[in-house]
Amino acid sequence: MKHLSEEHLILHYYGETDAGEHLDHCSACRAELQRLSATLDAFHSYTVPERQAGYEALLWQRIAPQVRTRTAVWWKQPLILGPIFAGLVVAAFFAGLRKEGISQADIELMSKGNPARALGLAP
Ligand SMILES: [Zn+2]
Repeated sequence: MKHLSEEHLILHYYGETDAGEHLDHCSACRAELQRLSATLDAFHSYTVPERQAGYEALLWQRIAPQVRTRTAVWWKQPLILGPIFAGLVVAAFFAGLRKEGISQADIELMSKGNPARALGLAP
């Protein structure tokens, strides 16, 4: 018989899964659940301490020297790279058309909104 994992028992403790059928027949898992329940029950009486005033500022003061700041390179900004890549795609498209032997007239047809005719796919 495969016993329930600790994670499964914890989920059962919080009512997020039902392991009752296995627990009815398995004393080892019942004992483990009782042990976990005793531990988890102890946390219910624990009160979370209030944070002192200015906690966030104090915390940031402590970790700020450890946080590396990145200096953004101007040409790596999305607003710069996007148009550059779009221009490269368009240039590659037209370079491909020229390489395939498509004439300037066909390119003009495409730019006028009839690419299927320019490529010979439509009459
Ligand atoms: Zn078991």
